[in-house]
Amino acid sequence: MTRILIVEDEAAIAELIAVNLRHAGYDSVHAADSRAARQAVDARRPDAILLDWMLPGESGMALARSWRANPRTRDIPILMLTARAEESDRIAGLDAGADDYIVKPFSPRELLARLRAVLRRRAPHASGEAVAVGALTLDPAAHRVTWNGAAVKLGPTEFRLLHHLLRAPERVYSRAALLDKVWGDHVFIEERTVDVHVKRLRENLREAAGDAGAAAIETVRGAGYRLNAKALSAA
Ligand code: CA
Repeated sequence: MTRILIVEDEAAIAELIAVNLRHAGYDSVHAADSRAARQAVDARRPDAILLDWMLPGESGMALARSWRANPRTRDIPILMLTARAEESDRIAGLDAGADDYIVKPFSPRELLARLRAVLRRRAPHASGEAVAVGALTLDPAAHRVTWNGAAVKLGPTEFRLLHHLLRAPERVYSRAALLDKVWGDHVFIEERTVDVHVKRLRENLREAAGDAGAAAIETVRGAGYRLNAKALSAA
């Protein structure tokens, strides 16, 4: 389930957003100040952040800047919420790394529409759209993987792992990065766990697609794993 962090010090607004997110099928967590927001992101990387500008302690702008500067959080979509409507403020928010900007008071429908747009742009895995490389297709909404149209059976972790790798073919992910992005909370899990699930994923792909399937997840020595798009496209 797509998990949204709401960073907002006004309880009534946070609640209104949370209710609307729930109705739209999102999971949400709430942080009422910048410290709680940092803790929430450190504990578990959210799929997107709705970030109020004016907060007790650090401002939303300062938070956005620091998340953008950190490789672990750089890609999280950020939607700024603010009462400021001046053009210069909008530009400052976007410069700080926000993906979009919404001025209070806003309609929940507009907020959801903008959130969906930002997720589609920055985090296609969370928008529920299917991804395909070569003959391999993964449809998150239907929770289905197919090879040339035939179903590939995967466990839930292998499914998420494959989904993550398919999003950025050829990109190398370290074990730590995969734990963080696929497992969500790397603190309690050993990196060796990744190897176990990669092995299982390769076996599943081999069953469905033969050698090309097994070659799809490539080990990059000393670095991690990547999806080998050539192996899939050549098959
Ligand atoms: Ca505020």
